[in-house]
Amino acid sequence: MNQQRIVLASSNPGKLKEFGALLADSGLEVIPQASLGIDDAEETGLTFVENALLKARHAAQASGLPALADDSGLCVDHLHGAPGLYSARYSGGHGDAAANNAKLLRELDGVPTAQRGAFFICVLVLLQHANDPAPLIAEARWHGRILAEGRGSGGFGYNPVFLPEGYAQSVAEMDDALKNKLSHRGQALALLHARLRELRA
Ligand code: IMP
Repeated sequence: MNQQRIVLASSNPGKLKEFGALLADSGLEVIPQASLGIDDAEETGLTFVENALLKARHAAQASGLPALADDSGLCVDHLHGAPGLYSARYSGGHGDAAANNAKLLRELDGVPTAQRGAFFICVLVLLQHANDPAPLIAEARWHGRILAEGRGSGGFGYNPVFLPEGYAQSVAEMDDALKNKLSHRGQALALLHARLRELRA
């Protein structure tokens, strides 16, 4: 299979590391947007899928290459889906994971275990070019609950406070391979791969 060059529309180091592992055998040559001097798109959408489209279109336009974008976040039942679209900047500053986790734990202070349900969501968009009218879109959710306090230090974002359904470890206590197999991002990429294989068959 020829290696297709695509630009990855993310500057989040945690996500880039995961995509590197997840796309290692994909037949795609993945180029992070920052290495082409492309900055982050403005995320003005009201849904994950809108923001993923905005990011992918911005990177495709600026690079002239096909673009893959991910928009993801954490939705907590008791908070009616918050932090949601604002997951990266929940506490104010962009990407301050410690402050975001502290705010989330404060918001859920005293909320019983049974009402601490949450899910991570990842929407992936692959555009062949900036005006591609038929983007490939894949979505996956990873269900679990929010712990009473953070545990572990692996990965990024809300990993320490999220306990996946069926597991006794927080995401930050899991090794990378297990997280990548189970996660919203890993599952969404598996769906996208399956779709690409169908289209190429
Ligand atoms: P985005 O760059 O706008 O998609 O922001 C996504 C934000 O959601 C990240 O900055 C994290 O706060 C959170 N997030 C998404 N995926 C994960 C994950 O796999 N682990 C922990 N936090 C995540």
